[in-house]
Amino acid sequence: MKPNKEREYMASDYDAAGGLLVQSILAGDTKVDNRERLGAKVPIQLFQAMRLVALGSAMEDMIGDGSRALVYQAGQRLGNVLGGAVMPQAEGDLDKYVGLIQGVTQELGIGFVVIDKVDLDAGEINMHLDECVSCAGITGMSAPICNFEAGMVGGLIKTFVGRSVKAVETRCHAIGDKTCGVDVKIL
Ligand SMILES: [Zn+2]
Repeated sequence: MKPNKEREYMASDYDAAGGLLVQSILAGDTKVDNRERLGAKVPIQLFQAMRLVALGSAMEDMIGDGSRALVYQAGQRLGNVLGGAVMPQAEGDLDKYVGLIQGVTQELGIGFVVIDKVDLDAGEINMHLDECVSCAGITGMSAPICNFEAGMVGGLIKTFVGRSVKAVETRCHAIGDKTCGVDVKIL
């Protein structure tokens, strides 16, 4: 085997690792290999550091104004992956699909997904996320900061309906709202 520094990156490594991760999520694994002492859980602050610094201000430093769109796209990708993984179990039923997503998001501590309105004829789905993992404890922001989660919701709906969607965070705990609201428009 070559030493690490001589190995070449495989473009598909993240996809493969993501696949293993999704399998573990859907299996509800409470144990993870190589975490004998620390276990499967990490503090919410670590997630927020990854989300707000690594996938937030670092992106802003690198690409400026487009960073929010990039973070949205990243969330959308995650929504596609998670949605695709639970789709077979949902059997084309939106209520079942939402139930499966609610289970996963609660289990992972992302928050409590609550559906406010579904009007597929008008192409509108409105929902909110209580106890959102990204902005819990964060206050005094000038605008909603959960564009990653908005993207994730967009990706989840996009996967179910098989069409492009636009998801917008309309309310956010970080600007003083009680919850994070996301309105989805099917395009
Ligand atoms: Zn928020």
